[in-house]
Amino acid sequence: MENIVLFGAPGVGKGTHANILAEKYDLLHLSTGDMLRAEIEAGTPLGQRVRAAMERGDLVGDDVVIGLVDKALSSTELGVILDGFPRTVQQAQALDFLFKHHNRRMNCVISIDAPREELVRRIHERALISGRTDDANDDTIRHRLEEYEAKTKPVTDYYKVSGLLVCIDGSGEINQTSMRLCKVVDGLIRKNRK
Ligand code: ADP
Repeated sequence: MENIVLFGAPGVGKGTHANILAEKYDLLHLSTGDMLRAEIEAGTPLGQRVRAAMERGDLVGDDVVIGLVDKALSSTELGVILDGFPRTVQQAQALDFLFKHHNRRMNCVISIDAPREELVRRIHERALISGRTDDANDDTIRHRLEEYEAKTKPVTDYYKVSGLLVCIDGSGEINQTSMRLCKVVDGLIRKNRK
């Protein structure tokens, strides 16, 4: 059973690639962004609590997303592909604890990289179809990228130390990035089966 984190800046394609990998390798795609949007859509108290932060492009509280991931891990026996979590060092520490608690092992953290102009271009493109308010406003996009640099990027150091981090180029076409990702995942599966 593989457990993988897809890591990267807003707009880099984590959601797209997590979907492709989940389908191909029979993993459960867990996106904290999607979970939070579902809470907002359903009008739950949690959704009401996080709506404003998400619309501003702020990260929501660690305790909220850690709780959502804990619940999701309790509800499946499949390997998981995490998209958009962890986004802070505290979340990364909590994930270590959660995986232990749920008898899982983290196999790999794959960081997808692309230049900032490309991220902004993709977010603008996505805004046309996503209906996401945080994709439609330039100040919010800038703020999300600042949040990423300040709070999320340091998570790579956390995983570098444990030897789990693999970085791939995500600047080109979807199928090029997808091939690079599949190569990494195929390698993990081969290693796990030895
Ligand atoms: P993107 O990667 O394009 O920013 P997401 O759907 O992953 O899109 O996240 C959208 C928003 O949801 C974030 O800007 C943040 O407000 C909130 N969010 C998602 N995941 C987390 C997380 N792990 N920690 C804190 N906030 C999160």
